[in-house]
Amino acid sequence: MSAYRCPECGLTYDEEQGIPREGFPPGTAWSAVPDDWTCPDCGVETKLDFEPAG
Ligand SMILES: [Zn+2]
Repeated sequence: MSAYRCPECGLTYDEEQGIPREGFPPGTAWSAVPDDWTCPDCGVETKLDFEPAG
C-alpha cells in the first residue's frame, strides 16, 4: 500500500493505517479520501497537496 505526506507539516497518510480519528479506518485507500479533505494537523493543505511518500 502507499503513503502520502503533507508538504506543510509532514503528516503522513499511510493507507495501511488510515487515520481512524478522521474517519478513515486502517486499509482505507487514498483514492477513497475526499479531494477536499484538509490535513488534520496543520489545517492548511488539502488532499490534493499531499505528495507520495513511498
Ligand atoms: Zn499538514
